[in-house]
Amino acid sequence: MNAKAVFLDRDKTILLPHGGEKYIYRVEDFFIPESYIEALRNLIESGFLLFVVTNQGRIAKGHLTEEDVEELHHCLDLILKYNGVFITKYEFCPHNPRGSLAPYNVICGCRKPKTGMIDVICDSRDIHKAGSWMVGDSEIDMLAGRNSGLRTIQVMTGSEYDSRYADFIEIDLVSAVSRILKEDEKSG
Ligand SMILES: [Zn+2]
Repeated sequence: MNAKAVFLDRDKTILLPHGGEKYIYRVEDFFIPESYIEALRNLIESGFLLFVVTNQGRIAKGHLTEEDVEELHHCLDLILKYNGVFITKYEFCPHNPRGSLAPYNVICGCRKPKTGMIDVICDSRDIHKAGSWMVGDSEIDMLAGRNSGLRTIQVMTGSEYDSRYADFIEIDLVSAVSRILKEDEKSG
């Protein structure tokens, strides 16, 4: 039996930066609203597997390390698990061809809008793509999702304009999850 999944962008999609901060590097840089945790729990209870797929190209610029990213995911995972939310896998891309730090400053197949991170997950698990979703705040998330054969929802908690590659546009993760559950019900 193949599983339906929701692929989640991380920064400004499930994690919001404190104050006016632009980037999320470390544990102290983010918060996750209670309502977001509840929404993610609703997805789990409706039978969706959850995956986080995030570009962390600032590793290639020397602003943070892979260990920083792992540590943040570990901490996030503790918070979520404590609240009944299980993320099946966290994938991140440390590459950025515009970075200066080897071996990360290369063109890779995983940096969104490329589909490498989603492909790896779908290939190693039996994911039913047509019943699955990509949720993110940016154009590159929508492109990666669409090119992977997923349905796409853009949340407006980042600073981007509406993407023409979004199947739906929602104000935040809570309304994105409501949309997924409604559409999932329709498709039976
Ligand atoms: Zn990469």
